[in-house]
Amino acid sequence: MAGDIEPSCAICGAPPYPTCPHEDERMELAIDQAQARWTAMQGIRDWVLNNARDQVMSTFQQLRLARYQLHLAYLQSLPCFTLYYRYNGQPPMMQPAQLHMLHSQITQANALFKQGVDEDWRRSCLQYPEVLDYYFNRVGYVLPDETDPSHGVAAKERPRVKAKKEGIDAGSAKDAKRKESRRSRGTTPPAPPRAPMPGAYR
Ligand SMILES: [Zn+2]
Repeated sequence: MAGDIEPSCAICGAPPYPTCPHEDERMELAIDQAQARWTAMQGIRDWVLNNARDQVMSTFQQLRLARYQLHLAYLQSLPCFTLYYRYNGQPPMMQPAQLHMLHSQITQANALFKQGVDEDWRRSCLQYPEVLDYYFNRVGYVLPDETDPSHGVAAKERPRVKAKKEGIDAGSAKDAKRKESRRSRGTTPPAPPRAPMPGAYR
């Protein structure tokens, strides 16, 4: 029996070929769980979200302020608006028709202002995907150098990288992916003689 015999499925015990999906599924689950346990991820998310939210809010507030200033300037340009305002909407010396006219102009302007603010908010919120991308891209990260012997993967796991590279070299990308997941467990089978040396890749 060859030394590089493939193990059966660790989950259901089925023979190695044809490949069953269990190990890949469990691996996805395990990495999702490990990622959830990794506190840095939450820290990054919080930082990105807080900054994105601040930026969207600040854009909105600027738009709203500019719109409010225009709205106010328009109201102040209406005849008798100051008077109307000073008497809380019931100035004693205005004709009813004139008052009615002013009142409807103000009501219409207020409705337009509200509509404009809603539009400003909607447009600000639509910036989220772009703003989130911007802040995620500002997060720096360093992946450990795989060739550095001191990088902290336990010795028994180090062959995984090698197995993956052999898999990629051996066949098409799709096959390689399958082999990678089958092979990336525990012990390393002896490298086939045709395996290139590390460093021969790309
Ligand atoms: Zn299985």
